[in-house]
Amino acid sequence: MLLDHAHAVDTQAIPLADASGRVLAQTVRADRPSPACDVSAMDGYALRTADLDHTTTLTLAIIADAPPGTKPPPMPPAPGTLRIMTGSPIPPGVDLVIKREDTTEHPDPHTNKQSITIEPDVLQSLAPGNHIRRQGENIAADTIVAQPGVEISPTRAGMLSLFGHTAVTVHRKVRTAIITTGDEVLPTQATPTPYQLRDSNSPALAAMLASKPWLDPAPPTHANDTPKHIAAAIRDALAHADLLFLTGGVSMGDRDHVPAVLRDLGANILFHKLPQRPGKPALAARMPDGQLVLALPGNPVSVCVTARRLGSPVLRHLAGLIAPEPDRLVTLDQHDGKSLELWWHRLVQLLPDGCARLVATVGSGDLVSAARADGFIEVPPTDTSDDALNHNDAANRQYPFRPWTL
Ligand code: AMP
Ligand code: MG
Repeated sequence: MLLDHAHAVDTQAIPLADASGRVLAQTVRADRPSPACDVSAMDGYALRTADLDHTTTLTLAIIADAPPGTKPPPMPPAPGTLRIMTGSPIPPGVDLVIKREDTTEHPDPHTNKQSITIEPDVLQSLAPGNHIRRQGENIAADTIVAQPGVEISPTRAGMLSLFGHTAVTVHRKVRTAIITTGDEVLPTQATPTPYQLRDSNSPALAAMLASKPWLDPAPPTHANDTPKHIAAAIRDALAHADLLFLTGGVSMGDRDHVPAVLRDLGANILFHKLPQRPGKPALAARMPDGQLVLALPGNPVSVCVTARRLGSPVLRHLAGLIAPEPDRLVTLDQHDGKSLELWWHRLVQLLPDGCARLVATVGSGDLVSAARADGFIEVPPTDTSDDALNHNDAANRQYPFRPWTL
């Protein structure tokens, strides 16, 4: 339901140097073939097959260099060769390159003339085309080399430069905002009474949202538990945000004003309460101007799990990414066979062998256990069908794993 309302944000042109990790919003074509001409793949010597018909050691005089970046010199008549480097254009008539290591080089200190010899067994192993990269063998001119909706990885950044893209059209960054609620919640630098606690939700969410170059998070704000404060904070945040995260105040308590305030502000509530643990009271809404809101129950582990689980797909859609997050499946090293009649997000540590180990936890307020975990697995609701009961092979079951970072 949420994804139906999450449309990719606008696009903008930016310098290639700033584009790392951003979401590509244009088709990229090769402006010329790659390589643009036949080039040597090795440091060595340029040869012609016709000159190699020898059963004894062949001696060739080195007549000139064929350096990279310049028009190749003509190939000398036999018995001569050109010294050639990796990336040098292949001179006309040359149909193979021999590696430097496969020759014996003979410098002549008196004449400054040099030659190479090639042994008969090496001669026999040579074949036309050896160590030549052909024009267009990577890609032909005008071919599409990248489609919209992918992250600009280091290799894509390099490729954009290779094909002359000084500027690149990307989706603008997705703007996010965070509002924490709760009269008992104080900033990090505060000295709380035993009846209060320091805010852990906004630093955790901010850390999660800091991990992608295509996000533009606003500094978190806090609202006390009154409809007036919450409404004002939401109005301020929506001026900036494509997606607003709220924490706390969304459950059944007398001070849980968030759902009513959102309704007053014209929200279309997409869902409120999900069959999941932790984070059952989670709410999602679409505001009249199109912004999306995820209101999460305030318990720290609920916030981290549900922001990751519900927020990540929405953010990817908003960002313009085409592919869903790839599933990363893990098996548990020691399975306790438990499941619930709802989606259960269980804390796990990743082990060096690729398995995951359950992390014991006291509950959704237990941020210390969550901080020991690398993320969580998604245990689907108990499957009580006969088929499932007959094949109840819990030990080999695989679960999607989500790390805390996006
Ligand atoms: P609530 O959803 O507002 O009922 O809050 C549930 C629990 O989460 C309460 O124990 C709150 O004290 C706690 N909590 C709410 N917001 C925060 C926060 N920003 N940081 C740490 N704990 C919080
Ligand atoms: Mg509260």
